[in-house]
Amino acid sequence: MNRIVFLNGKYIQEHEAKISIFDRGLLFSDSVYEVTAVIDNKLIDFPSHIERLKNSLKELNIINNINYESLLKMHKELIKKNNFSYEEGLIYMQVSRGTIERDFLIKDKDIKPNIFAFTQEKKLTNINFKNSGLKIITKPDIRWQRKDIKTTQLLYATLIKTEAFKMGFDDAWLIDNDGFINEGTSNNAYIIDNNNNIITRDLSNKLLPGITRKTLLEVANKLKLSIIEKPFTVKEAIKSNEAFISSASTLIAPVINIDNQKIGQGNIGPITEILRETYIKISKNNSI
Ligand code: PLP
Repeated sequence: MNRIVFLNGKYIQEHEAKISIFDRGLLFSDSVYEVTAVIDNKLIDFPSHIERLKNSLKELNIINNINYESLLKMHKELIKKNNFSYEEGLIYMQVSRGTIERDFLIKDKDIKPNIFAFTQEKKLTNINFKNSGLKIITKPDIRWQRKDIKTTQLLYATLIKTEAFKMGFDDAWLIDNDGFINEGTSNNAYIIDNNNNIITRDLSNKLLPGITRKTLLEVANKLKLSIIEKPFTVKEAIKSNEAFISSASTLIAPVINIDNQKIGQGNIGPITEILRETYIKISKNNSI
């Protein structure tokens, strides 16, 4: 690929973008990130992504020299410099604590963060779920206990997604020790029960506060749909009328099978469809 990427203030060819082997993001996953969707060459939910980034930095005591306007300008510049084929895709941005001699002890309080960002081509809106959806397998959630912080410590999520894929599934939903579903490997998880309630786990250290989730709940409210934020079990999920996931990189995508049990009719359910369409419409209107 021949992208122009951003690294510490400079726009350069991707093959020229180099970072020190002493970057703490590389050595300790001492870094946080955001992924923002781009539709019609405009940014979706951008202010909320920057809010969450600030919170991730605060939780890890990483120096926050983030300036909203300059990050917005950088994201816009990356869109301009890299032509998205369908005018849609993703922008990945990572902020690490910085480059310093390897040590478990974080001694120096003035380490300068390393910031980089790049674009990724992805079709987001024009996906036909009329005859398709995701097959999910449930797996134990053995990640650390601060899943509310968006760190780059993602090894378990990538290994378990790969294992799911090898077993013929599209993704895994991660369950806690009490049998409740926390979230997907890189998305939030929802079911719709027999009374048309949309159920998703309430926010805590057990899951990432998804930005798509936040907007989606507002959209559901506008549509006068009933939302219950509470834990739900695998059993409840298997009995549900509809199920779906949300993330910046999928927006909203239907789940049609959980642990080899069919959900709904094997395609996008009516409530999921309305949510997806309305989410896309409202997000486009509010994009920047
Ligand atoms: N949960 C996890 C573990 C994630 O990694 C992600 C996104 O990467 C999400 C949920 C969804 O978050 P968002 O809607 O902000 O993309």
